[in-house]
Amino acid sequence: MTAALESLMLPKAHTFAVAEHGAFIDGAETGVNEHAIDTLDPATGQVITRVADTDATAVDRAVQSAGKAFEGEWGSMLPARREALLHRLADLIEENAAELAQYDALEGGKPLSYVESVDLPLAVEQFRYYAGWPTKIQGATVPVSTPDTHVYTRKVPLGVVAAITPWNFPLCQAAIKLAPALAAGNTVVLKPSELTSLSSLRLAQLAIEAGLPAGTVNVVTGAGAGTGQALVSHPQVAKISFTGSEATGRHLGASAGRSLKHISLELGGKNPHVIFADADIAKAAAYAATTAYFYSGQVCFSGSRLMVERSAVDEVLAAVREHADALVLGHGLDRATTMGPLSSAAHRDKVERYLETVAGTGGTVAFGGNRTGESGYFLEPTAVLNPSDADPVVAEEIFGPVLVIQPFDSAEELVPRANSGKYGLTAGVWTNDVRKAHTVARQLQAGTVWVNTYADYNAAAPFGGFKASGFGKDCGPEGLEKYLETQTVWMSLA
Ligand code: ADP
Repeated sequence: MTAALESLMLPKAHTFAVAEHGAFIDGAETGVNEHAIDTLDPATGQVITRVADTDATAVDRAVQSAGKAFEGEWGSMLPARREALLHRLADLIEENAAELAQYDALEGGKPLSYVESVDLPLAVEQFRYYAGWPTKIQGATVPVSTPDTHVYTRKVPLGVVAAITPWNFPLCQAAIKLAPALAAGNTVVLKPSELTSLSSLRLAQLAIEAGLPAGTVNVVTGAGAGTGQALVSHPQVAKISFTGSEATGRHLGASAGRSLKHISLELGGKNPHVIFADADIAKAAAYAATTAYFYSGQVCFSGSRLMVERSAVDEVLAAVREHADALVLGHGLDRATTMGPLSSAAHRDKVERYLETVAGTGGTVAFGGNRTGESGYFLEPTAVLNPSDADPVVAEEIFGPVLVIQPFDSAEELVPRANSGKYGLTAGVWTNDVRKAHTVARQLQAGTVWVNTYADYNAAAPFGGFKASGFGKDCGPEGLEKYLETQTVWMSLA
């Protein structure tokens, strides 16, 4: 397989991808240890390379290094210089975009053209947007009702941030966490998913090349229960910034509570995507299918619960099916591919288990549902029609290419049903009635609501969930605020 991979990759990317990698600590990569983890190509099931399963001692070194950079050069750097270095890092990501894109396409099984057109620009945008902030982070003078007193606030960084990312958007998620954390003046120890380490390790190299002091960005590769747990439990970590599953988020939230660390959580979503019959049905259905099958549905804001006004169901289902039939399943690095595999065999098995119970609760598999491909973890694009609200395919985040389609009869019936789930990440509404659009948008319990569009994302627009989807926004001023503390200074003028 190495030979086949070689033909699909840039020589530089191939060399980096098949080399063994250790953690990136204090400006350099360490070697792999004896507990190294195999990383697999999900399109073939074959081993790509091994990465270190970083142990607690090495995690401690990474945190110490980040602590030293925070107390030292990065923490004391003038804001304009910090801005310049973050812009330089954005430049380097742009210059190396073709190489970086190949790592996420390979390890994540993502179609390369999507990584190039979505993930890379988004990562660059995060660094550019937050590069503008260091010179604009300011406190306030406070009009207290106390005589002869001058009170002001300062915005100060927290210290060492533990950034924990999932496998579906490795480079993007690293950028979404690093850019605001660094702009605020913190230093970072990043733990990527054990399935997708390469782009994070390369990003750490680029940070050094950009001129960020050693220790400002460290990367510890390894499993969640070992490396991740050692990182989040480290007493010198001030803040945990986590994106991943609800179960891990709840666990980390409890542990952060016990150790009184700051924490922000971006967890799952089972997002109601609503189409009223008066909408532009062709456009709505095209968006519905695109968001359901984009990256095999392995996206937290996937519009995977499609709620359609009854009279439009047949038309929407036919259009979604047509889109699904046109998808080309294949290797992420193959430019013809428009849908890749699921991330692992275990994950594909989990998605299949959801489909096994559908018939028993009244739903039907309208199309798809089968494994496909000679190797790797491919599952056909799938639609489930008319499952009950209580069915796990409706209530839970499947994180696979499974679109559930549920009819509804009125906005009054729709809203409580759409809000009945435990999550509240995103929602979509399609209608040409302005009053209905605004009324339903404000009634939906979701951190982001898209109207007559879906899945738009920009570094300036806050993004983050309600309810079991977590708390703490990414992007915009809120995305920066969560990496800052407010200090109040009282001074007597008497
Ligand atoms: P997913 O199902 O999307 O992989 P997880 O929540 O399991 O979601 O993983 C998201 C990230 O959290 C990964 O980097 C994983 O290694 C890490 N992780 C998992 N368990 C823990 C833990 N106990 N402590 C810290 N990090 C963890």
